[in-house]
Amino acid sequence: MKTIGLIGGMSWESTVTYYQVINEAVKDELGGLHSAKILLYSVDFAEIEECQAKGEWERSGEILADAAMRLESAGADFIVICTNTMHKVVDQIQAKIRIPIIHIADVTAEALLRDGINRVALLGTKYTMTQDFYKERLVQKGISVMIPNEKEIEKVNDVIYNELCLGIVSAESREYFFRLIMRLKEEGAQAVILGCTEIGLLISQTNSALPVYDTTWIHARTAAEKAMES
Ligand code: GLU
Repeated sequence: MKTIGLIGGMSWESTVTYYQVINEAVKDELGGLHSAKILLYSVDFAEIEECQAKGEWERSGEILADAAMRLESAGADFIVICTNTMHKVVDQIQAKIRIPIIHIADVTAEALLRDGINRVALLGTKYTMTQDFYKERLVQKGISVMIPNEKEIEKVNDVIYNELCLGIVSAESREYFFRLIMRLKEEGAQAVILGCTEIGLLISQTNSALPVYDTTWIHARTAAEKAMES
């Protein structure tokens, strides 16, 4: 089995899910007492968030590249960055290591295309929803991406940073996301990407009007499958 290098802590609430989903996938496949070989470098999210808020992406990229290099020298076979947003600096990180990074948007796009979905709603941080670094990756694969309106983007972003990343899961926010997904369905979305690794704490297939593509689950399952490939 290969060793997975996780760059986590963004936030740690969702890194917990990665750890769980990866180990469950290994258990499903190999059974018994098998579990995943994982190295985790968990950053201080406050430092990363400060860089984001100040637009200091280069600096955040340096912090994550440093984490990736440490994971590589500790023996990781590939890297998983446990956040959608920080894939904004994926090229900067990849430039510093020889082992591959599994890109969260690529594996999500593959899952959508396998299911024949080509018009999708994207929920995530304001960076992920409004900037091109993530959406373009989907568009290039022939998937058209719908995002919420300006007011909704602010609200979704606020729930992510001021609730979910702090471990607060509220019934009101769940209701808000439920209604938003319903509206995006009425506008023509065939599915919704939970394009922030914490949204799965709030929304799942059971409370969504649209088929759910949870990036945390897809990314973590893909990492486990890659680790078990011969
Ligand atoms: N975990 C979130 C994401 O998937 C947001 C936190 C961050 O900014 O990295 O985008």
